Amino acid sequence: RCDVKSFLKRNWLLIATVLSVVLGIGLGVLVREYASLSNLDKQYFGFPGELLMRMLKLVILPLIISSMITGVAALDSEVSGRIGLRAVVYYFSTTIIAVVLGILLVTTIKPGVSQSADNIDREGTTPNVTTVDTLLDLVRNMFPENLVQACFQQYKTQRKEIITLNSLTRDLFCSHFNKLYAKNKTFCFCILLQNLTKDYKIVGAYSDGINVLGLIVFCVAFGLVIGKMGERGRILLEFFDALNEATMRLVQIIIYMPVGILFLIAAKIIEVEDWDIFRKMGLYMVTVLSGLAIHSIIFLPLIYFAFVRKNPYTFALGMAQALVTALMISSSSATLPVTFRCAEENNRIDKRITRFVLPVGATINMDGTALYEAVAAIFIAQLNDFALDVGQIVTISITATVASIGAAGVPNAGLVTMVIVLTAVGLPASDVTLIVAVDWLIDRFRTMINVLGDAFGAGIVQKLSKRELERMDLTSDVDVANP
Ligand code: ASP
Repeated sequence: RCDVKSFLKRNWLLIATVLSVVLGIGLGVLVREYASLSNLDKQYFGFPGELLMRMLKLVILPLIISSMITGVAALDSEVSGRIGLRAVVYYFSTTIIAVVLGILLVTTIKPGVSQSADNIDREGTTPNVTTVDTLLDLVRNMFPENLVQACFQQYKTQRKEIITLNSLTRDLFCSHFNKLYAKNKTFCFCILLQNLTKDYKIVGAYSDGINVLGLIVFCVAFGLVIGKMGERGRILLEFFDALNEATMRLVQIIIYMPVGILFLIAAKIIEVEDWDIFRKMGLYMVTVLSGLAIHSIIFLPLIYFAFVRKNPYTFALGMAQALVTALMISSSSATLPVTFRCAEENNRIDKRITRFVLPVGATINMDGTALYEAVAAIFIAQLNDFALDVGQIVTISITATVASIGAAGVPNAGLVTMVIVLTAVGLPASDVTLIVAVDWLIDRFRTMINVLGDAFGAGIVQKLSKRELERMDLTSDVDVANP
């Protein structure tokens, strides 16, 4: 009994979170069944969930800035270079493994062969964004021209001229906008502008959301400089270290509110209009989800075990709170505060590693997204009876990898970057709309795998960097990163 008690005491937050998910699903189904809510009522219903999301997003900025700067400044540049290299090699290799797994599954299960694209509704058209555009945007985002702007805007492909909307097109745009892809403003912006102003080619634009990549690059540079400034840099280092601690305390308060999660999921269940689509798209969903399951239950744990020689499932259990949060909010960036807490407190990963590796991982390491992009592209090819040769399959694997790196850690980002995978092999980019209806569900699962991949990565990099960290412990008298 004592064991049960101590187990409950240790894990009550996780239990409360899981309970919130279950209750949220139950509540959603009940309300859907027995109450007919107006659109406004639905909005009110989702309000506590919205608040939770807002609070998590609120702390992303101070968290990323303070952790990256202190993370880098606390290491010497040679060590941080080596840690960074290890992390990037891990990110790339696991992403490629995920893509190959996705391709193997989708070409074996063939979810798109038995049905035709005509049976699924298409919505609107999409712009032609090429792989080069995505790569250029990626690099542009790394070098924001304005630090303040980088805190709320990301750069997206900007070709041809900027279009000014008149009030009529703006109204039309806004009404479609809310209905279709409220969360993907740029994407939607492009689709609708192309629909509404047929003779214009699309521009792309800035999209809402923090330019995490730009901030990371800046913070790495800033952290390196501070680290080399000796005594004079110390005051800045201490400032950012205190900022980091204060932010983490805020995070602690925020995640003590799992009730937000309850309403988040309940509101989503009430909001979904077409459940039948899940039947129509069943095999496609099974393919993506089984790929994600194999990657997260077999491949990632095996890789972790190969390097760390510890039980990967205990490690994954330690991340459970972050995984459930990712599942509920479909955003690696907004989950980042929880990922930090789980990695540092439950899995005891050194702060010098988490601070450096987790924000980068949440931005560029997306195994789940990469796997999904490969499966979805080949699924769309199958729907269109479009035979892919080996060269095209290789192109899909490369572009799916690039697209997952380019995707921001926000809901449905993978759907947007899908366009480059489709256009690279000559598939109609507009067919991305064939899979939109089920994306809200798949997005949750792929985000969870993205977060798990980042966490395993931090564990592996810590193990590989053990000697350097120990050496640093011996040489430095005061450890700012681990006070
Ligand atoms: N929602 C995912 C994430 O935040 C990105 C995606 O859409 O695949 O990791």
